Amino acid sequence: MLYRIITIDGPAGAGKTTVSKLLAKKLGCVRVDTGALYRGVAHEIKKQKIMWQDDAALKAFLSRLDLTFVLKKEEFRLISSGKDITPHIRTPEITMLASVTSARPAVRSALLDLQRRIASQQDAVFEGRDMGTVVFPDAKVKFFLFADLEVRARRRYEEMPDPAKDLFQVQAEMAARDTNDAQRVQAPLKPAPDAIHIDSSHLTARQVVDEMLRHL
Ligand code: C5P
Repeated sequence: MLYRIITIDGPAGAGKTTVSKLLAKKLGCVRVDTGALYRGVAHEIKKQKIMWQDDAALKAFLSRLDLTFVLKKEEFRLISSGKDITPHIRTPEITMLASVTSARPAVRSALLDLQRRIASQQDAVFEGRDMGTVVFPDAKVKFFLFADLEVRARRRYEEMPDPAKDLFQVQAEMAARDTNDAQRVQAPLKPAPDAIHIDSSHLTARQVVDEMLRHL
């Protein structure tokens, strides 16, 4: 690998997004949110009404998929067939659909190539679930960021208060996603053997970044 890649894996709500943004800024490189790619796939599956449980239909859909990131004002926008779909990928429905469709081997292999292509062009902080284990096993520095479920659920709830849900519902949905991500056969959420573990339950994002910078 020509460029320097730093990976951050961990469950939803552990702080990966905030921390990876801060860390990339400190290091003067880009940050790649790979969850957005899985959300983009889910968004297109919904829009095009794809029967994703059917392998042949899923593969045909993936062969047509034209998903890319475009850097705009220092932020990556997710572009599908020329359209910016970034504003539409964070709904609760897309969140759950991304969680189940990301377990499909065809989806994972389609996105594997795309992620490596992005990495071959620049230094980057990649955040996701399988960055250190599957996508970039040779990355020099890998972090596994986690926090207690209650803490993660509260963070998510406070970030995006949803009047239709209470904190316990947010926590239950997060636990369901954790189970999907950790128990799938393909690229399950788990720390790479050489990952540095950081528990963010009682740390601010800045403290986590300081801890990461110490390791770098
Ligand atoms: O990180 P985020 O919550 O946006 O990711 C959405 C979903 O995409 C996750 O629930 C997970 O199932 C999937 N994902 C994945 N591998 C990654 C990043 C995200 O399976 N590297």
